[in-house]
Order: sequence, then structure tokens, then C-alpha cells
Amino acid sequence: MDKFRHKKSLGQNFLHDETIINKIVSSIKLNPNDLVIEIGPGKGALTKKLQEFNVNLICYELDKRTKPYLEKIQSYKTHIKYQDFLTSDVVSDIKKIKYKHLYIVANIPYYITTPIIKKIINSNINVEEMILMMQDEVANRFSAIVGTRDYGAITVFLNYYFQIEKLFEVPASCFNPMPNVNSAVVKFSKRNKKILLKNENVFFQLVRDSFKFKRKNLKNNLKNYDLTLISKVLKEFNLSLENRAEEISLEVFAAIANNLA
Ligand code: SAM
Repeated sequence: MDKFRHKKSLGQNFLHDETIINKIVSSIKLNPNDLVIEIGPGKGALTKKLQEFNVNLICYELDKRTKPYLEKIQSYKTHIKYQDFLTSDVVSDIKKIKYKHLYIVANIPYYITTPIIKKIINSNINVEEMILMMQDEVANRFSAIVGTRDYGAITVFLNYYFQIEKLFEVPASCFNPMPNVNSAVVKFSKRNKKILLKNENVFFQLVRDSFKFKRKNLKNNLKNYDLTLISKVLKEFNLSLENRAEEISLEVFAAIANNLA
């Protein structure tokens, strides 16, 4: 009988459904010379499946009580670090391994979804694809299409870095213990067409300000900006200052920002 006591404070909802575990791992095409970072391996449900592809693995697990499970599956290609992913030196860790492509796979605690993604972006580690489990509501926001209710500043920010696709929903019954929110798996892929910005800070501030009051249009949210210039750019895309931020695509935000920069 397994006596492991799950810690809610560490978001410990372990996956036990083989079909879902298989679906997550097979959503990326792995080769033995690739490197996969797994965040929060827990008792190794996803780790064991990843090992079947003979890939290089670095796993970051905060809870040392998982050692008896993870030590059993450690190998010369599977490196387990009992550390907080958020404060770990990922750049130096991956430098020690020779690999072709870098992937990230994680069933992470939902309350650190955004800090984890921010850390990955700020580390600048050239990730090919990442497959992340998250709260379904958050998955909908990250992958929202322009003009829909879920489309917001976070959608625009993340889509600047990645192409984002919600792959499938995961019923609570696939976890032990069951989470009290719905879950979904999301794929983040390196953008094949990079959005070129003259000044990232101008773009980030513009997006933040545009979404400041969700019900207001651009004219009201961007009062302190050069509205004549913005209006001119919007016109090129058949849009106007009467539109709301949720109707403005990433490409249009980038075009406005590049004119303001
Ligand atoms: N991957 C396993 C699975 O799918 O069954 C466990 C997933 S569980 C949702 C999340 C795991 O992340 C837990 O094992 C927890 O201890 C670990 N964890 C929580 N915060 C962490 C952090 N900051 N860095 C690394 N691991 C963390």
C-alpha cells in the first residue's frame, strides 16, 4: 500500500490515467538526442513514459519525499534535481548536456503556471515545444482567438513568444487526488514567423494599456497616446479607435507599437 501523503500546497495531483499519460507524451516527436525538461515529476508517471523514448531528461522536483520513487528510475540519461524549478539555474543545467532539440513537459501546480512560463521565457533557452497541463480556464485564455471573450493581454503577450494550441481537456478523475477545477493540456511551439518589434517595452505597455478597462474602446483606454497616429495604423487594417482591445490581433498591436517606438 502506497503511504505517500499528497500535499495540496505543492499542487500534488498525480496522473494515474495511462491513456492521458500516453497522449501527453506522444504529442511531441522525441528522438534519443533530444533533451526534455520535466517540471514536477512527482512519482514519475510522465517521466517513465518519457524514458521509453531514450531521451535526455532533467527533472526538477521540489518535494524530496518523492526520492524513493524517483531514485528507482534515475539513470545516466535521467537527471533528477530536488530543487524549486523557479529558482534553479536552468541555463547552466542544460549546458552540461549535448542535445539537439529542447522540450519541456510538465503537469505543474496550477498556481505557478504563469511564473513557470515567465521563467522559461526569461531564461531564453530556445525551447522547441512545451506541453503543459493547466487549469482549463487558463488554457482557454492562453489559446484564445482574437475577437472572443477569453482573448486578453496575457493571450497577446504569450502569443508573441509561442504558437499556442489547446490540445485536449483532462477529466478530474484522471488525477489522484482529483483537482477541484477542470484541466487541459496546452502545446506551446516556437513561432516559425517571429513578430519583429522595434521596442518590446513599447509593445508590452501598449497592450497592457489597451486592455486596461475591458469594456472601454481603444480611444478611451489610450487617451494618453498619439491617437492620430494610432488611428492611421488601425485604418490600414480596416479597424478604428472605436474597436476594443479584444478585437485587435497580435500583428496589429505590433504594427501600432512599431509606429509609436
Ligand atoms: N508529474 C507528476 C504527475 O503527473 O503525476 C506530478 C504532478 S503534480 C501536479 C506537480 C508536482 O510538482 C508535484 O510533485 C510537486 O511536488 C511538484 N512541484 C511543486 N512546485 C514545484 C516547483 N516550484 N518546482 C519543482 N517541482 C514542483
